[in-house]
Amino acid sequence: MTLFSPKTAVVEREGWDGEAKGLAHLVDGQLDTRHGAILYLEEVCVSFDGFKALNHLNLDIGVGELRCIIGPNGAGKTTMMDVITGKTRPDSGAVFFGQTIDLTRYREAEIAQLGIGRKFQKPTVFEAMTVFENLQLALAGPRSVWASLRARLTGEQRDRIEALLLRVRLQEQRHRVAGLLSHGQKQWLEIGMLLAQDPQLLLLDEPVAGMTDAETEKTAELLLSLKGHHSLMVVEHDMAFVEAIAERVTVLAEGSVLAEGSLAQVQADERVIEVYLGR
Ligand code: ADP
Ligand code: MG
Repeated sequence: MTLFSPKTAVVEREGWDGEAKGLAHLVDGQLDTRHGAILYLEEVCVSFDGFKALNHLNLDIGVGELRCIIGPNGAGKTTMMDVITGKTRPDSGAVFFGQTIDLTRYREAEIAQLGIGRKFQKPTVFEAMTVFENLQLALAGPRSVWASLRARLTGEQRDRIEALLLRVRLQEQRHRVAGLLSHGQKQWLEIGMLLAQDPQLLLLDEPVAGMTDAETEKTAELLLSLKGHHSLMVVEHDMAFVEAIAERVTVLAEGSVLAEGSLAQVQADERVIEVYLGR
């Protein structure tokens, strides 16, 4: 089966440094989401030494949806994100971005360029640089740090950075060195850096772990403000947080979907109660 028409073949984008291949054109304004979903996982299996971390996993995420994923430790949540972002290859099954882009054919860096951003659990900002500089670097994309910081910002770039600062509530910290931010502020900065790349799909692994209650509340507001503009998949254990943001919740257990529905629905599900209480 041919998945791509010749005009969507991978070509090098002009003006990019290094070996970066521009793939954004594959999805710019043409990610095929006619069926309403931005991501499909079909019968995905991943084993580690015979242990099935993902076991015939089926899941799809709607365009602009904010989906929460919960499930006990070891359920396969992080492995699922590894598969979507190309860090882990599935043994079998399909992973599609829109209707036509088979993510299993791309490498990690390419998948990021296709428009899928991932926030790992630990913040990974440039600690020695200011909040503003971190966003400036993120906006520049895959270029050298030196070239990005030396380049004069256009008015448009400056406006984008200001909008990002506002979005992640770090306007007042713009000139602070990132290493001096609180844990929560670092997490918001990293979300801002992901947003600078304007991802269509954003994956967040336990974004509020280690945050104060006030920071958790602000993060809920932030994610709700992104809904509709981006599609989001959020893995989180903090049920108060899930309750604040979730519409649809998917419960993973033993590598596949155990239940799906509103938080109240899945919390009332006998099988869900059983996996959380242990057998
Ligand atoms: P969760 O994020 O839901 O807690 P994970 O996806 O991290 O679960 O892990 C699912 C299962 O797969 C766990 O039993 C874990 O030990 C195992 N696993 C994950 N990654 C690897 C790996 N690289 N090698 C071996 N086992 C792994
Ligand atoms: Mg995990």
